[in-house]
Order: sequence, then structure tokens, then C-alpha cells
Amino acid sequence: MSISSEMHRSADIHKRRSAAVARGVSSMIQSYVDHASGGTLSDVDGREWIDMAAGIAVTNVGNASPRVVAAVQAQVERFTHTCFMIAPYESYVAVCEQLNALTPGSFEKRSALFNSGAEAVENAVKIARHATGRRAVVVFDHAYHGRTNLTMALTAKDMPYKHGFGPFAGEIYRVPMSYPFRDGLAGPDAAALAINTIEKQVGADQVAAVLIEPIQGEGGFVVPAPGFLPALAAWAKANGAMFVADEIQTGFCRTGDWFASTHEGVEPDIVTTAKGIAGGLPLAAVTGRAEVMDAVHVGGLGGTYGGNPIACAAALASIETMRELELAAAARRIESVMLPRLRELQQRHAFIGDVRGRGAMLAIEIVVPDSAAPGTITAERGYARGAPLGATPDPAKTAEIQRLAHQAGLLLLTCGTYGNVIRFLPPLVMDDATLDRALGLLESSL
Ligand SMILES: *Cc1c(COP(=O)(O)O)cnc(C)c1O
Repeated sequence: MSISSEMHRSADIHKRRSAAVARGVSSMIQSYVDHASGGTLSDVDGREWIDMAAGIAVTNVGNASPRVVAAVQAQVERFTHTCFMIAPYESYVAVCEQLNALTPGSFEKRSALFNSGAEAVENAVKIARHATGRRAVVVFDHAYHGRTNLTMALTAKDMPYKHGFGPFAGEIYRVPMSYPFRDGLAGPDAAALAINTIEKQVGADQVAAVLIEPIQGEGGFVVPAPGFLPALAAWAKANGAMFVADEIQTGFCRTGDWFASTHEGVEPDIVTTAKGIAGGLPLAAVTGRAEVMDAVHVGGLGGTYGGNPIACAAALASIETMRELELAAAARRIESVMLPRLRELQQRHAFIGDVRGRGAMLAIEIVVPDSAAPGTITAERGYARGAPLGATPDPAKTAEIQRLAHQAGLLLLTCGTYGNVIRFLPPLVMDDATLDRALGLLESSL
């Protein structure tokens, strides 16, 4: 984006940034935020942006949500940090109680708190390996699980997440994901393909964990075909492996329920959470079956800041806000407003190949029109076959739509292995008028 004269404060900060901040840390826009609320951001030059990003599915309760702000302020004045491993405090216990109650499955559970999603995923793998005495971890095409060393190995996409950062951790095995728009397979068939790959290439009795996002995030908002997740969960159960749901992006009302696993009646052995948990404060968690979590020896899990008291206060306030404002229902309402509008746009624009998602986690996939001629086989995967399975991704058009949206003041994110998916992640408290304005701006950008 060019820097106009009205952006002079942002431009000044941006100049300082170039001299101070490592180049590898990038930003989507060059405007610097001054304040934000439940659906809009205002930059330091007084320009308003409609927020369809929610800080990547973090500010589900909105930015600077009143209850969260009050809880954080009260906690900061009492104490900022003692380290739960040294001198514990009640709010950590209360967050674990909430997680144990809210995650799918009515069995007895335990939780442990960490700082980031990646750290939670790492700990889920540690716990699954400890509980099973096995090493292999099964992950999927298009998966995203983080950027630390172990989680880079779990993540599928090379550029920008892994490129040049190896060597990566071992005992990670990648299998085909159900991707209805591109593989055309029913859920049970896609699961059979994945399971066959596991059994033939890994060995059923070697698998510690089958780790999956119930709806993939960075990989392209890929919603697996119905039946895919239950079949994998059943296979894991039958073979003594942990079924681990990475609900870091899908959790906390985002998809219209507390957790996305619920839509398919799946009860994971272990669930990882982060992003939406604490209204923007850094917090993450691993929640799982009591006997699995407690397989780990005393002192085997932890970290200096994990379950920081300010973050715990924010999490309790966020969860309370989600209950009070019924944000799961709000996400379903956002879906009911947005999906028909997106489908209507698809009718008008042949380059919108697919409209998909659940709740307030929706996306459109941008392709080259008419590229899905019958019989088209793309290089991406040998099992993609037939129309519209071969539809050629159009990342250039995707980037252009995003650029025009930003010019118009609409904060839009892209994602996907092929960089051709535009995703919508509004804060769940966004009001109808703002959502309508957002869709209007999207329409003109298209
Ligand atoms: C964002 C994300 C992570 C990593 O979380 P961080 O807090 O960025 O480390 C892991 N898994 C999924 C599904 C995510 O969306």
C-alpha cells in the first residue's frame, strides 16, 4: 500500500520500525493502531478499519471488552506474577475448571496452562507420548500448528513458516486431509485414505497421537467432509492412539459452539486451546482425559509464565462474557447473515470457486474461472481428480482483492496452502450494521 500524506504518523512509525524491527516479522498493513473496539480498529491517523480479522480469531469478545478490561485492571493491582509452579493462585485453578467443563466429553478431565498455541501443541504431544509410550505423531496436509521447532514439523506449509528453518523434529507423519472442494471424497472415504496411509507407512501400534484441526485455519479454512473426524477418532480409539483436536483457532464460540469438535459429536482425548481464550491476553491450554493428563510425572509440565494471573483473569472474564452475550449463538447468526451473501457473490463471480466454513469462521476460495475442466489433474495431489477438483488457485487475484479491501478500510486476511483463500473472522460481538458495511466493502473489492 502506498503511504499517503494523511498517513503521516503511521509513516513516521513505519520508518522507525524498518530500522528497529527484524524484517522477518511482517505486518499486513502499514497503519499503526491507536485503539480498537468490538469490530473496528482506529489507527494513529484517525482512520477507521472494519475488523474481519479479530487479531486472527483472538478477540472473539471484542477488543478492550469491558469485563476483560476491568478484570485485568483489578488483577494488575493485586499482583502481576508469582509463577504458578512457585506460589499458586486461584484463577489458574478456575480457568482449568472452566476448560474441563466446556470442552467436549463428560468424562473427568485435567488441564494445564501455557503461553501460546504452539506451546500448548508441544505439550499435547509430550503428554500423548508419555501416556502411550509411543513416538509417532500423525498430522495432515495443509495443517498449521505453530512456528516453534516441533510445531514447524507439524505444520505443512514451507513458505513462510518453515523455509530455511530446519532441521525439523522427527517422528512426524503427514497424511491426506479431507478437502471436499479439491478431493471430492465423502468423509469416510477420505478417512479410509488417511488411515490406510497411517497403517501402511507408520504402523498402527506406533502412533502416539492423531493431531488435527477440526476446521483447518491457516491451511485454508478447510472443513473436512462429514464423517471424516469421527472415523479418525474411532480409529485412534481402536488403536490406542490419542485423538488430539487443535481447537486453537476454532475454539471459544468461533464456529457456533464452544468447540468445533462438537459439530460432529467428536470427543477428543486431548484438546489444545489458545487464541480466543482470553480476550487478547496471551494464554493457552491443554485439556484432556484425567488419566492421560496425569500420566505425566510431577513437575513434568510447566513454564515460568504459563497461566499468568493477568491472563487467567482475562480468560475468566472472556468466558463469562461469551456466556452472558451468548456468543456461540452470535457466531451462528453471523453465519446466517454472511453465507447467503457470499453464495450470492459466488453466483456473480466465476472466480469464487468455493464458499465454506462454519459460524464466524467463513471463507471463499479464489480460482481461475473454468480451470476445472473435467479430468483436470493438478500437481498438488495425485488423488485430486475430476471437475472442479483441479480448479487452479489464483493467489494473485486473491492478493489484489485483499489490497482493494484494505484500501477501502476493510481488514481482510488470506490463508491457504495456495494463498488463494480469503477468510472472515469477525469479532463475535460485531453488530449487524458493521457486518453489513463489511460485506458491502467486500462486494466492491470483488
Ligand atoms: C495460531 C494457531 C496455532 C499457534 O498458536 P500461537 O499462539 O501463534 O503459537 C496452533 N494451531 C492452530 C490451529 C492455530 O490457529
